[in-house]
Amino acid sequence: MDCIFCKIIEGAIPSSKIYETDNVLVFRDIQPAAPVHALIIPKKHIASMNDAKDGDFALLGEVLAAAQHTAQELGVADSGYRLINNCGADGGQVVFHIHFHLLGGEKLGPLNAKA
Ligand code: 5GP
Ligand code: ZN
Repeated sequence: MDCIFCKIIEGAIPSSKIYETDNVLVFRDIQPAAPVHALIIPKKHIASMNDAKDGDFALLGEVLAAAQHTAQELGVADSGYRLINNCGADGGQVVFHIHFHLLGGEKLGPLNAKA
C-alpha cells in the first residue's frame, strides 16, 4: 500500500522515533509546527477517523495512552500541549493514515486558525 506512514512503520522511510509499543509508533513531525511536534500513529493502517471501526477503538485508546506517555517523555505534560486529529479535506488531513499531532513547548495560538 502506498502509505508514507506505513513505510515509516516498516522502516522503509527513516524517522526520528520517540516511542514505540507493539501497536503504536511515535515519531517527530518532519515539519514541526511547534518546538515539540510528535505524531502518534497506530501500526495498523486506518485511513482516518471516518474509517475507524468498532473494533479499532481499543487500539485508538492505546494511541492516546502513547500520547500521554510522550507528553511526559518530551517534558510538556506540566506546561501543557495540544492533541489534534485532522480528518478529511476541511480538517486539513494530508496523510491518510490516522494520526494525532502532539504540539507543545510554547503557548499555542487559537484553535480556529484558517489555513
Ligand atoms: P496531516 O495534515 O495529515 O494531519 O499531517 C500530516 C503530517 O505528517 C504533517 O505535519 C507533515 O509534516 C508530516 N509528514 C509528512 N510526511 C512525513 C514524513 O515523511 N516524515 C515525518 N516524520 N513526517 C511527515
Ligand atoms: Zn498506512
